[in-house]
Amino acid sequence: MRVIVVGAGIIGVTTAYELAADGVSVAVVDRRTGVAQETSFGNAGVIAPGYVTPWAAPGMPGKVLSYLFKPNAPVVFRPSLEPRLWRWLVAWLGECRAERWRTNKLRMQRLAFYSRDRLHLLRARHGLQYEQSQGYLQLLRSDKDLAMVGPARALLEENGVPCQLLDAQACRTLEPGLSPLTPLAGGLHLPEDESGNCPVFAAALRRDAEALGARFRLDVLVHSLVVEGGRVIGVRIGRDLYKADAVIVCAGADSVALLDPVGVKLPIWPVKGYAATVTLKPDAIGPGRALMDEAYKTAITPFGNRLRIAGTAEISDRALTLREAPLRTLIKVAGDWFPAAARWSEAQYWVGARPMLPDGPPLLGATALPGLFLNLGHGSTGWAMACGSARVLADLVTGKTPQIDLDGLTLQRYRRLP
Ligand SMILES: Cc1cc2nc3c(=O)[nH]c(=O)nc-3n(C[C@H](O)[C@H](O)[C@H](O)COP(=O)(O)OP(=O)(O)OC[C@H]3O[C@@H](n4cnc5c(N)ncnc54)[C@H](O)[C@@H]3O)c2cc1C
Repeated sequence: MRVIVVGAGIIGVTTAYELAADGVSVAVVDRRTGVAQETSFGNAGVIAPGYVTPWAAPGMPGKVLSYLFKPNAPVVFRPSLEPRLWRWLVAWLGECRAERWRTNKLRMQRLAFYSRDRLHLLRARHGLQYEQSQGYLQLLRSDKDLAMVGPARALLEENGVPCQLLDAQACRTLEPGLSPLTPLAGGLHLPEDESGNCPVFAAALRRDAEALGARFRLDVLVHSLVVEGGRVIGVRIGRDLYKADAVIVCAGADSVALLDPVGVKLPIWPVKGYAATVTLKPDAIGPGRALMDEAYKTAITPFGNRLRIAGTAEISDRALTLREAPLRTLIKVAGDWFPAAARWSEAQYWVGARPMLPDGPPLLGATALPGLFLNLGHGSTGWAMACGSARVLADLVTGKTPQIDLDGLTLQRYRRLP
């Protein structure tokens, strides 16, 4: 069986690995010269399955409106006139109801916990090193933030996810580098969550996939999917047709450009996020684990001797342009907690587009077009859901039964779509 994977982000690389491990002849194609060079490149690196949650949540529309005129807002709404965005927003609003949020969250968590198990298995199998660290601490600046963490904590406990609510002193003992000058009401510690550098992992797994026979054709743009006799028979690159028994689209936020012309219309919108990366000073006490400043929804993650600071959800146009305001917020947050840990003026900046579906869970598996499969729409938690999604795809493509229930994770939830 020959399979083409379109896209060498974290989703495409893990999918190719699993197929190659099953003995499938797999070729990955990507327009970039390396793997994980787009959204998978600059993410916060957090793998927190218990905390995986849809952005369509009760109270979110009100929050978005309240952020409209605030500096340092974690959510930025600068709508373009594209009808697709407005349709996405209407669908997103419909998913903000409490019962929809709960259903979507549980679907995402089912996949995320499975993904973490698969990640650990791959790490043990290949001895992968990707600047990983253990644990996740949410920093709650005010009593209001502390009170708001209540429902999420209850859900974590209901699902048996170990977590501890810490007072400020206990947070500072766990993270001695935190500045004493920045007010802190407490924190939620998730000792079993973790973090790691996504593109470093992708590059390492690519080598293992190649050792199993997977081929990577990089620096090539897929112009279209090729349909013949009612099925997808391959992809067109320039004038050439590359044939396969199955094509898996893992093209992140740009998947729609390939899927629209073959009649698979998906409500994916690129929700932008920003990151800064900076080297720690040699004597600095940086964080020992990934931190999340809840007030600014900004993550601070240690990658070896560097810090990655990432955040902001910007619902606007498609242009990946660095904007000053969100970058200032990242540096403000990092500087609040670790003022002397780095030369902040030397930070390297990045912007990426989360491939976001309105409800939250990704889309895995077959379409109505024989030969065409999807592994996309992982939104803000694609790194946390990659290894499990990949295994599910490999099982479906090779006719095996996936190890998790796929209810709510396939195209069936958009019944009106092909
Ligand atoms: C600021 C920020 C912070 C984040 N933090 C986290 C986090 O802490 N934890 C977490 O789990 N997730 C996080 N995410 C989300 C995560 O990064 C994404 O969900 C994930 O990277 C999506 O992976 P992907 O492979 O689907 O997309 P991508 O990485 O974008 O890969 C898609 C690939 O398809 C290729 N492609 C597209 N179209 C074509 C074409 N026509 N021809 C050839 N190639 C094509 C692109 O070149 C690209 O390489 C964050 C995202 C952002 C922006």
